[in-house]
Amino acid sequence: MPFKSGSVKWKDGVITLNKQAFKLWDSYGLANYSLRSGSFNEDSRGRWYFNVVVEVDRKLSPGSSSIGIDLGLKTTATCSDGDKLSSGRFYRDLERPLGIAQRAGRKARARAIHAKIANRRKDALHKFSSALVARCGFIVVGDVSSMKLAKTNMAKSVLDAGWGQLKTMLEYKCDHAGILFKVVSEKNTTQTCSSCKQLPDSRPRGIAGLGIREWICSGCGVTHDRDVNAARNILALGHERPVVEISL
Ligand SMILES: [Zn+2]
Repeated sequence: MPFKSGSVKWKDGVITLNKQAFKLWDSYGLANYSLRSGSFNEDSRGRWYFNVVVEVDRKLSPGSSSIGIDLGLKTTATCSDGDKLSSGRFYRDLERPLGIAQRAGRKARARAIHAKIANRRKDALHKFSSALVARCGFIVVGDVSSMKLAKTNMAKSVLDAGWGQLKTMLEYKCDHAGILFKVVSEKNTTQTCSSCKQLPDSRPRGIAGLGIREWICSGCGVTHDRDVNAARNILALGHERPVVEISL
């Protein structure tokens, strides 16, 4: 149910639209913003949400780090500085109740658990992306196509990992904070040694290499965490091309 800019009023926890009042749980501190257009939306559990565009001043990030991010299955995102966002924590304790509800044919209960998982994932992705934006001046991610992978048998984990959501959040948060955001091809980023830039014989390769979490470069002897190494290569690729765009 959409509404136009200026048609809603917010006062003391109550939204007024066309003289109708709606009580709202305000988790954002709406009193601090002027409200523009938006909509009322209902989710699969029959709960209503108030979505609204607000006016905010741009807050530039004070951060100066450059970070590469490798998107993965076991770990949703691994940063070149070693920071990780684990995907399992979104639903680890909800997997069992979900299975029980599904086997018992309790559809409403299963839907409720799914919604809970989705909310938790979104919350975790928001926190992770905001923390990154606060400490960075440059962020680079690999161009994993989640839609392409979603068609394979890895689909469930890919969709659960929320890659698309994370990319979208980073993109708009970087834009808002004046941070340079780049997407690069992640080809060979897992197999290249980020220290000596070679493709050593000892690199994790093919299906057999998927389970290798740590490896030693046979070229230079450095020990790599698989995902951190990939994230470092992604960051290096981000630095490769000139980062200043020339406008005519
Ligand atoms: Zn090496």
